[in-house]
Amino acid sequence: MSDKGMTTMAVKRINKNKVYSFIYHEGTTSKLQIVQKLQMGLSTVSQNLKILEEEGLLEKNGYFDSTGGRKARAIQIRRTARVSIGIGILKKMVHFVAVDLYGTVIFDSTLDIPYQTSRKYYRQLGQELEGFISGNVLDRSSILGVSIATQGIIAPDGQSVSYGVIMDNIQMKLSDFTEYITYPCRLEHDSKAAAYLELWNHKEIDSAVVFLLNRNMGGSIITNGLVHQGIHMHSGIIEHLCLTHDGPMCYCGSRGCLETYCSANALEQASGMGITPFFQKLRNGDSDCRQIWDSYLEHLAFAMRNLNIMIDGSIIISGYLAPFFLEEDVVTLLNQINSTSPFTLSRDQIILGTQGQYTPAVGAALHYVSEFLQNV
Ligand SMILES: [Zn+2]
Repeated sequence: MSDKGMTTMAVKRINKNKVYSFIYHEGTTSKLQIVQKLQMGLSTVSQNLKILEEEGLLEKNGYFDSTGGRKARAIQIRRTARVSIGIGILKKMVHFVAVDLYGTVIFDSTLDIPYQTSRKYYRQLGQELEGFISGNVLDRSSILGVSIATQGIIAPDGQSVSYGVIMDNIQMKLSDFTEYITYPCRLEHDSKAAAYLELWNHKEIDSAVVFLLNRNMGGSIITNGLVHQGIHMHSGIIEHLCLTHDGPMCYCGSRGCLETYCSANALEQASGMGITPFFQKLRNGDSDCRQIWDSYLEHLAFAMRNLNIMIDGSIIISGYLAPFFLEEDVVTLLNQINSTSPFTLSRDQIILGTQGQYTPAVGAALHYVSEFLQNV
């Protein structure tokens, strides 16, 4: 193809993406608004709308109020024209989510399938995924891909787990999954996936530390609006920050890691009950639960204070325990941080995540959505 031909094709692609992105960000718009805001010719806009509609990516719902003359059609993107699937793999269970093009969860499911390094496990996972897809009547051709979040650090090439003590999944490979999953597939460290979700929800964030308060704790560092990976992909593994060198034994082999104080498992162990009953008793004024929770918040604030010294930015409380936090808990954390830190943290710097236990699966799924939006 000639250079001119290539250039014409590139311009066409760019224009199509501009029109789609404009509609996506506006939510609802009209042909005239697109022409005016993008300063694009009417025929170019019409042509691109026609292409996008033929590809099933747009929908026209209703009309704008007339300001004289013909009423303008209201144009939106078809948010379920493509969906991405996220899988969260835990030691004792699996989470499935399907998200639409705005990153909204349209379906979710939790299955009690304990992890094991066997073909039987991967085959069952593939079958359950097919069940999730057909059970929710998802159009197979609309599925962008399946993104798998797991506990464990992923090797830089994305093909395997390089550190996986909790689940004993050091042998986990992407190819184990792709043998039974026929869609595009990728592996993601659950803590990093959580950070992608928080970045998606808070696009203004430049720097932050994410506290993933799951059954096992996780964490990640965001700088310059990106998740910091590190040379060996283990940046932000704040769960192994040492709080007391002679504290409780951590699964990593060291003592007194943040994991042993602030994971959901640690809270369950300290209280001798499940997370939901614990918070019910706590909020009903139980003094033993209060004492355990105060101690939990004290350790969390200590880590937050020290990490904020390193990363001058937001603190994001994410994952399983995040929806259990009340404003009074955030205020307690803030007061404890500010009572010992030379720099004052403001209330708006502490952000509470909203997706609970589905956080890693949703964050992982967003990868394929972002990729689609960039290349449409
Ligand atoms: Zn540890």
